[in-house]
Amino acid sequence: MKIIVDIKEMHDYIKKIKKRGSSIGFVPTMGYLHEGHLSLVRRAGEENKKVIVSIFVNPIQFGPAEDFDKYPRDTERDLKMLKELKCVDCVFMPEAKDMYKEDFATYVELKNNMPNVLCGVSRPGHFVGVTTVVAKLLNIVQSDRLYLGQKDMQQAVILKKMIDDLNYDTEVVICPIVREKDGLAMSSRNTYLSPEERELAPILHQSLQIAESMIELGEKDIEKIRDEVKRKLNKANIKIDYIEIVDADTLQKKETLQGKILIAAAIYIGKTRLIDNTIINIPD
Ligand code: AMP
Repeated sequence: MKIIVDIKEMHDYIKKIKKRGSSIGFVPTMGYLHEGHLSLVRRAGEENKKVIVSIFVNPIQFGPAEDFDKYPRDTERDLKMLKELKCVDCVFMPEAKDMYKEDFATYVELKNNMPNVLCGVSRPGHFVGVTTVVAKLLNIVQSDRLYLGQKDMQQAVILKKMIDDLNYDTEVVICPIVREKDGLAMSSRNTYLSPEERELAPILHQSLQIAESMIELGEKDIEKIRDEVKRKLNKANIKIDYIEIVDADTLQKKETLQGKILIAAAIYIGKTRLIDNTIINIPD
């Protein structure tokens, strides 16, 4: 498993792979890896000749009051986990000073409403940071397939749109959410939770399951469903950021429960912001 820090070296490595005609699967991450990340890497290994994983805590996707400085990092552990998978050819770990030189000036921004809804409301500017870094990483890695998690569904939808709009020649593969035994979606940020907070955290998934079963039982009233989810969270004194029911492809609000529906939520457990979602297909 090769470890590359230098961007020019990465360009040269990719050129060599491409010359041989090998397909490239790419998994971008911010490190502090868990089973969720590894599921993407394994999938990339099954579907491509070469697998490249990036580890880069992208400073420009964090707001000034957000957790960039305290975001968990453990490169040694990450590299050990990736090596054990035996399917990773290269880990790309660029440095922030090389990704964003002092005079860096070019940002990639969706001008539609996708970055302004759901997480975009409480994290203004976050998705410009995400689209800009992934545009840069794709220019460097030139993958055939890009592996993203449904855990960050808004991010996946936005990146899919960017890739289509900017004609990147890469297929987007969205992988299912990997959960802890009690239902909590795995996340690097779960390490922020105290033992008491960790015990409470599965309530997010449970509240989304309430919405799912209401829909399965035939409930059609979107507000009623949101109210039930809110009631469950309010009862436990959870601070809600948002609960939204939107179209899973466009992220626009649904008027009626039809088609591919994304039920997405963000809550605060103590100071930690957790997100989760579920996708339901409702035939017309
Ligand atoms: P991050 O390191 O948080 O930027 O995540 C890197 C990639 O892993 C993103 O595409 C995430 O959506 C994905 N990911 C994170 N957590 C999970 C999870 N629990 N299940 C599946 N994919 C995940």
